[in-house]
Amino acid sequence: MFQLKTKIVFGRESIKKLHLKGRKAAIFSSNSMIKYGFTQEVADTIDMPYFIMKDIKSEPEEKDIEKYVEILKREEPDAIIAIGGGSVIDTAKASLYHYKKAKLVAIPSTSGSGSEVTMAAVLAKNGVKYSLVADYIAPIIAILDSRLPEKMPAKLVAYTGMDALAHAIESYVSNIASPFSQAFSIKAIKIIFENLLSSFNGSQKARETMHYASCMAGIAILNARVGICHVMAHKMGIFKIPHGLAISFLLDETMKYNMKDEIAKKRYNKIAKELGLKNAHMLVEEIKRLKEKIGMKSIVSHIDENDFNNKLDLMAKEAAKDALLRFNPRKASMKEIKKIYEKAYYENNQ
Ligand code: FE
Repeated sequence: MFQLKTKIVFGRESIKKLHLKGRKAAIFSSNSMIKYGFTQEVADTIDMPYFIMKDIKSEPEEKDIEKYVEILKREEPDAIIAIGGGSVIDTAKASLYHYKKAKLVAIPSTSGSGSEVTMAAVLAKNGVKYSLVADYIAPIIAILDSRLPEKMPAKLVAYTGMDALAHAIESYVSNIASPFSQAFSIKAIKIIFENLLSSFNGSQKARETMHYASCMAGIAILNARVGICHVMAHKMGIFKIPHGLAISFLLDETMKYNMKDEIAKKRYNKIAKELGLKNAHMLVEEIKRLKEKIGMKSIVSHIDENDFNNKLDLMAKEAAKDALLRFNPRKASMKEIKKIYEKAYYENNQ
């Protein structure tokens, strides 16, 4: 099976093509989108009364959602528009999960989460991340306006770009990957390798292309989900580091782990060939090189060593029982997961 319920509207100034009708709209917006005037632009194109929810936290916690659900229940909007990064879109989706009575439009301002097309919202509970999944929280419309990602600081381009790359790679080797999901995965991988560095360096064209690639990777994970890299990165939420940073920290090491599975190795080899590389090992080396070029070499400096070691057992234990692991091509025990964390910390990201 392959599914996509979201209508994708893309291109420069595509925000202006949103002519949404209804009774009332709740606009969840990041403060930066308000500052740049894009939120007002959205408000001006819709033909209904609206109210704006701002000051939305990055990496949202379960307890943050309650107040939004309360407001939605009181105001009774029949449309929700989320404009901002993955955290803003996920906050809107998690609120809709409980409220249920609205259609959702997502307008991403970063190029990574793919949340504008998926039916999952990532939340944290005491720092540890988990996903709420329901088909009614998948946006009905996603607007990919290339002016928005142009505003991203370079660091955010790096974090979100690596997240998109991990979505594309993990979905490609997933146990439930199909020729349809893999078509989106492989195209996204190619675009990301060709454009992430230029996007990081500020190229407008590359930012636009990356914005589309991130959505393609989102379509791939909607259908084939993610694997061990995401499971382990979610547990690193307790360090309060951005999702994309945790993903970068683990991507190459988790690939090396998966490579011991024959089917996964074949699939990595296929990705490598598509990129003009010799084999799966070269693919991992290429990812390391890319990380270095976009300033993500020594990720360990973001995580205190003692703190890391103190939390290692807990993270590994939580990761080993995560349901998402069933999509990963290779089974992983708590002991093996712990070893991957340690290798990533002591060997791979110094
Ligand atoms: Fe992700």
